[in-house]
Amino acid sequence: MPAPSSSKRLQNQVALVTGGSSGIGAGVAKSLAAEGARVFVNYSRSANDAAEVVREIEQAGGQATAVQADVSREEDVLRMFDQIREQAGTLHILVNNSGIQDDAPLLDMTLEQWQKVIGVNLTGQFLCAREAAREFVRRGPQPEISKATGKIICMSSVHELIPWAGHVNYATSKGGVMQLMKTMAQELAPHRIRVNSIGPGAIATPINHSARDTPQEEKNLLTLIPYGRVGEPADIGHVAVWLASDESDYVTGITLFADGGMTLYPGFADNG
Ligand code: NAD
Repeated sequence: MPAPSSSKRLQNQVALVTGGSSGIGAGVAKSLAAEGARVFVNYSRSANDAAEVVREIEQAGGQATAVQADVSREEDVLRMFDQIREQAGTLHILVNNSGIQDDAPLLDMTLEQWQKVIGVNLTGQFLCAREAAREFVRRGPQPEISKATGKIICMSSVHELIPWAGHVNYATSKGGVMQLMKTMAQELAPHRIRVNSIGPGAIATPINHSARDTPQEEKNLLTLIPYGRVGEPADIGHVAVWLASDESDYVTGITLFADGGMTLYPGFADNG
């Protein structure tokens, strides 16, 4: 049975989930909506996927709206935030989730591959976080809605910590997200804006389906996960709800790894 609305942790709050049309972003959008947030589901190209996420949220009794923007393009991001302000008045929660991979060995990686991944994964997070912070500061505190003036959650990765051969653009983007998050957290704390990251391990989504195609590939992947299972988008959705809620009001500037122990260096468990 759904919780009564008075006990929902994100009641009366407006959230934007970038890349909410697929994978982890879709899971996060559904989890935030289930806790009472009105969710803007951003997509870049896949309007149908975003519409499907909106439909699922509405069917479950939540509120959602699809909003198009390529987060690597400043004009798109500005237009998206204008649209959110026009339709919902303000924003309380940003989940900076959009991300891509375009893998190649360093020796073969083109400048285009490098710039494309940095553009979405790092510049996209900067642009959306800047606009969200501007909106939080413009609107000011609303203590009847949330203790913090605003919350920013960056989707990082275990690869903000673990180097990843063959993915230098992706790993560098996530290392950059770590410093982006921490520096913004330091700078925005006096405004009572909290900024944190989630560091997922292996979550079953389209971004990594090629690493789980065959039973052998799945088995190889599981050797990296002490907890013995691949994660689901809902695992990350639950963490996002907590980081967005007043339950984490004293938490800012951290990466919360949700990785089944991938960052515990499992290779050292019996070979240290
Ligand atoms: P996914 O491919 O299912 O989702 C990526 C999302 O980003 C899609 O909704 C896509 O539309 C959106 N996107 C791509 N380019 C965009 C652009 N230019 N503008 C706006 N949106 C754009 O993959 P996912 O696994 O759900 O990835 C979501 C985030 O989680 C990414 O930042 C990824 O790096 C991170 N992550 C994923 C895993 C994992 O194992 N799946 C692990 C660690 C981190």
